[in-house]
Amino acid sequence: MALIVQKFGGSSVADAARVMNVARIVTDTYKAGNDVVVVVSAQGDTTDDLIEKAKEINLNPAKREMDQLLAAGEQISISLLAMAIEKLGFPVISLLGWQAGFNTNSVYGAARIKNIKTNRLNAEISKHNIVVVAGFQGINRYDDLTTLGRGGSDTSAVAIAAALHADKCQIFTDVEGVYTADPRKIPGAKKLNEITYDEMLELATLGAQVLNNRSVEMAKKYSVELEVLSSLNPVPGTIVKEKVKMEKMLIRGVTKDADVALISVVGLDDNPGVAFKVFAKLAQKNINVDIILQSVGRNGTKDLTFTVSKENGPLAVSLLEELSVIDGKKISCKTNVAKVSVVGAGMESHPGTASKMFEALYAQNINIQMISTSEIKISVIIDAEEADRAVAAVHNAFIPQD
Ligand code: ASP
Ligand code: MG
Repeated sequence: MALIVQKFGGSSVADAARVMNVARIVTDTYKAGNDVVVVVSAQGDTTDDLIEKAKEINLNPAKREMDQLLAAGEQISISLLAMAIEKLGFPVISLLGWQAGFNTNSVYGAARIKNIKTNRLNAEISKHNIVVVAGFQGINRYDDLTTLGRGGSDTSAVAIAAALHADKCQIFTDVEGVYTADPRKIPGAKKLNEITYDEMLELATLGAQVLNNRSVEMAKKYSVELEVLSSLNPVPGTIVKEKVKMEKMLIRGVTKDADVALISVVGLDDNPGVAFKVFAKLAQKNINVDIILQSVGRNGTKDLTFTVSKENGPLAVSLLEELSVIDGKKISCKTNVAKVSVVGAGMESHPGTASKMFEALYAQNINIQMISTSEIKISVIIDAEEADRAVAAVHNAFIPQD
């Protein structure tokens, strides 16, 4: 007998028919002789709808109250799924995050899991109950509800699989696995049989929607092998693990991230400490900076360009305006940009990956504004309007089409 953790995203439980469909998948797994712990997200667009409801009343509500509100979404889906499983004639119990032992820190809206007290989970499993757990939520040391950040149910599932030493962790979604590009936009995108944690982490961070990046980080840390598969079409999905068989594919995926603001400061003094002062100011307010470009100093001045999330753009500009090193310099913030990236461990040993990507963009007459690389990825910042065309062209250049 194995212990299997199965996670279902919001689209997989969007309505009554989908909830019954999930109940069938779960009970089939249970009937085969396994213990099953199920983690679910809020139904469909529930979380977005709750955020809208809050905005109608207060544009800047306390984060604690936001978490109190958003945690309600998953409470609905766990109880409904438990009722569906009960209807099929199987023993089941639903648990909120705190009931399942999820202890987190107190960063409302982006809480980190500190530990899972597994007594209750283990007790229910040993009674042979199917356990349905609310994803995305926990409790802090003040007994207040917290949420883990958008898409956090993936992390809940991986955390349970790690804490219970589960034999399998399956992440069910509305696509059949991890693809070389978003299959809803790029018709030639191919499903991957396997991918490494590191590649998956880059893809998730650079805009692939299929898995939350923190969940991949945690899966790597605790060696939880993940299977990403469809709740609607029972075909093998994608396995995410430490090492995979070398495939001929140089690139595992092409992603687009439109959540980018590009900030430039022109004519800074070419002196030591300028970059430090700029980025220390942003770090104090927890603003995450991504790509940084500094021009070569000329006539005693230099320019600094960097990217932050769209949400942080205006705040970053107003913080910089407070700095004396910026006094009187021109600051601009562009939001009509996007980041397009290629990811693949194969590029480490294959020169020419960058030039192949740039050639594909050149052939489309797409101008590159910034470039950044790591051992297994290359990202470019380009005009937002050209991003979909860029993804298609770059994908076409790297992924053989049949
Ligand atoms: N319901 C939450 C969200 O929409 C958590 C999740 O879906 O994983 O962000
Ligand atoms: Mg959701």
